[in-house]
Amino acid sequence: MIRNIWAVGRNYADHAKELGNAIPESPLIFLKAGSTAVFDQTVKLPDWSVDVHHEIELALQFDSSLNVCAFGLALDLTERHFQNQLKAKGQPWTLAKSFTASCPLSSFLPVQNLDELANLDISLKRNGKVVQSGNTSQMIFKIPELIAFVKAHFPVCEHDVLLTGTPAGVGKIDRQDLLEGNLSGAKSLQASWSIR
Ligand code: ZN
Repeated sequence: MIRNIWAVGRNYADHAKELGNAIPESPLIFLKAGSTAVFDQTVKLPDWSVDVHHEIELALQFDSSLNVCAFGLALDLTERHFQNQLKAKGQPWTLAKSFTASCPLSSFLPVQNLDELANLDISLKRNGKVVQSGNTSQMIFKIPELIAFVKAHFPVCEHDVLLTGTPAGVGKIDRQDLLEGNLSGAKSLQASWSIR
């Protein structure tokens, strides 16, 4: 069972820029409840949602020694309409980031050496068209730094997941969309999700 999903905001400069955000000086960490994780390939958007955005991300998982032992793909679903309202008021992002089924995850594959994740192409297709693409080497805070930061500040548990940020190209998803995530390089992984 995943107890916590630690996530980093604005970790790719191009994405920070597209939302008009400054580049952070230390990792901007927010939480998605562990129970937002879903492994189904069909993802149901909440009835109340107005503008849910896709954010494809490299996801890492911790083992019982709290070392990263596996990687996967995550779709950090974000309700942008409510997030913008909350941001304007300086309020927490829970409604925008931690709603039911807001963290679709792929299956996870083992990784021994984190260097193998440092230079992977990451992309997302929406209905066959590439909408997000980047490379994990473009992260502002690199994977070892993110891991050290969350372990130094938070009660990380076995099976917890760490989302490492999204490259540019986030946008609205609609019911009936097909989203396909891809990682390639020293490690590769594909995942697809049908939005309902
Ligand atoms: Zn994100």
